[in-house]
Amino acid sequence: MTQTIDAARLCLLLNDLRLPAIKQGWAMMAERADREAWPAARFLASLAEHEIAERDRRRIERHLLEARLLPGKTLDSFDFTAVPALSRAHVAAICAGDSWIEAGANLILLGGPGGGKTHLASAIGLALVENGWRVLFARTSDLVQKLQLARRELALEAAITRLDRYHLLILDDLAYVTKDQAETSVLFELISARYERRSMLITANMGFGEWGRIFPDPAMTLAAVDRIVHHATIFEINVDSYRRRAALDRKQKGAGRPPTRATIKTIAADVSPPDNQTQT
Ligand code: ADP
Ligand code: MG
Repeated sequence: MTQTIDAARLCLLLNDLRLPAIKQGWAMMAERADREAWPAARFLASLAEHEIAERDRRRIERHLLEARLLPGKTLDSFDFTAVPALSRAHVAAICAGDSWIEAGANLILLGGPGGGKTHLASAIGLALVENGWRVLFARTSDLVQKLQLARRELALEAAITRLDRYHLLILDDLAYVTKDQAETSVLFELISARYERRSMLITANMGFGEWGRIFPDPAMTLAAVDRIVHHATIFEINVDSYRRRAALDRKQKGAGRPPTRATIKTIAADVSPPDNQTQT
């Protein structure tokens, strides 16, 4: 009876102390500690560790929700053999975050459509969240639209400051910023504000030479590119579209139509990487 009263009171105390994991798990842990005759200090340490582990888990869960990453795009499901020039070890180092994210450096993924830029960007974002960083994935065009709206309401600075809580801002598809979006240059203000403070991961299917389309004038383009690449790692993903290759593969394996030698050869020649990119 006394125990019931104690337990109820303990629950209230743990509530007040904001220790939900201990509140939920202490009874089972106490039972085990009694059974195995743990010293009191060990029991206390296990309770504290349990609360911290749950706190971390909940935080990562929250950060995953807010990051708006693409479902299913993980490093495990990324086929590195399809991009021979990309080193898996380099990507793994990027995913640890520490040095570049702390320095507010950038990562740029360039290459034609279907090469896996968006997949890789989201997968890197996921790995970083799992490693404790805060990330936001956005289609560049959508984010620019939101910032333009904020500018009209004279709240651009506040909107950009709010994005500071994300250690990494993923701007997917820079090329899709439209001409009228370019005119107001909120993107330039975002880039300037984050420069050397907060990281960005930018994907684009055009080289820097064409970035003039995204900013209202050449001076601003130059200034923007300069800030972005000053501390940046650039991955060039110059491979055939993965979708197209997958479709060719399916066709090659051929449901129904018996493939002739000639067909296989033509397709194989078309899809294999150039000699200089063959992986060692
Ligand atoms: P991009 O952003 O470069 O246009 P995506 O990342 O959207 O290309 O890739 C197109 C599709 O192909 C996606 O469904 C993606 O998951 C898949 N894909 C591309 N490259 C790879 C790869 N190396 N391994 C696994 N899937 C890939
Ligand atoms: Mg893409």
